Amino acid sequence: MTTTPAPPNQAADHETWDAVVVGGGVAGLAAALMLGRARRRVLVLDAGAPRNRFTAHMHGVLGRDGTSPARLLADGRDEVASYGGVVRSAEVVDARADEDAVTVTAADGASHRARHLVVATGLRDVLPDVDGLAEWWGRGVAHCPYCDGYEVRDQRLVVLGTGPASVGQAQLIRQWSEHLTYVVHEAPEPTSAERAALEARGIVVEQHRAVRATGAPGPDGEHLAALVLDDGRTVDADAVFTAPEPRSGDDLLLRLGAERSDGAAGPGGALPGAVPVDMLGRTTVPRVWAAGNVVAAYANVPVAIAAGTMAGAGVNHALIEEEVAAATAGRAAA
Ligand SMILES: Cc1cc2nc3c(=O)[nH]c(=O)nc-3n(C[C@H](O)[C@H](O)[C@H](O)COP(=O)(O)OP(=O)(O)OC[C@H]3O[C@@H](n4cnc5c(N)ncnc54)[C@H](O)[C@@H]3O)c2cc1C
Repeated sequence: MTTTPAPPNQAADHETWDAVVVGGGVAGLAAALMLGRARRRVLVLDAGAPRNRFTAHMHGVLGRDGTSPARLLADGRDEVASYGGVVRSAEVVDARADEDAVTVTAADGASHRARHLVVATGLRDVLPDVDGLAEWWGRGVAHCPYCDGYEVRDQRLVVLGTGPASVGQAQLIRQWSEHLTYVVHEAPEPTSAERAALEARGIVVEQHRAVRATGAPGPDGEHLAALVLDDGRTVDADAVFTAPEPRSGDDLLLRLGAERSDGAAGPGGALPGAVPVDMLGRTTVPRVWAAGNVVAAYANVPVAIAAGTMAGAGVNHALIEEEVAAATAGRAAA
């Protein structure tokens, strides 16, 4: 049987890739871009559900402000492919490491062996349990004012409380509009000092739970219009800011033996509760790296790109170290 040889910096399926990247969002593609440009054989496996897929435009991304997330990723995939990187649609369900390599298995049963693995699987936002809220996620309901605040400046805004940090989120959102209501919902009741500080800046405090988000017809279709409170009143809302619970997609990292930190933030900005990585994205598991929201919930698009870039370069350096050691040992043996 003859097999078609793989192009110079790709690997055939039975061969070992220099690196496999799981997750083809901005972090994973940035890692793959660096590796492709370093002439490494890199395979990206992506399930195709980036975190910001709910929104039509991204903001705060220098040089691409207002671009659609889908457009940015399509351009990224093309750039990776232009250096020989391979991007495939696949959901990875398992990962195993041995001394020499990491093997990942996709849901269709295909397995891929690589000298190093970059996990860039992102996170999932778990929204507060309010009827209808999820329908408006990314188009009226948001978490990040730097991403979406400017577009709703001076409009009727609501902060929907989810925890102790929500009072601070209300004070932050006040920067974008003076028409702001803080619906306490699941957050602790504000202290008298917090309430005084909110009211001093004209923020209306509603010590109630929200039960429903409702829309209204507009010239461009239906848009978010209000939150209904548990006493039956409605609060007009052109936009709602809230803080969903970020659930890391770190299953593969945990499966490989990484552990979430339980204390202070780790090196490289890993948060408590996240798998710690160093500034290059190296985890404590040999040959395993991580970048983007999977280990840093705070990372927006540029920060996730930066983390992926560092991880791609880090993997290349680690590969070079292995190659130097192998060459030196080979020469000594000869
Ligand atoms: C509504 C909304 C709006 C936002 N707007 C902005 C904005 O305007 N500006 C900004 O800078 N940031 C914005 N963000 C944040 C932005 O989404 C993240 O910073 C960015 O997506 C993080 O990139 P990432 O590569 O780490 O993860 P993701 O983009 O989530 O990519 C992870 C990828 O991994 C894949 N994956 C997961 N598990 C597997 C698996 N087991 N096998 C294979 N593939 C897998 C996923 O399908 C996905 O494609 C927004 C977020 C949300 C929720």
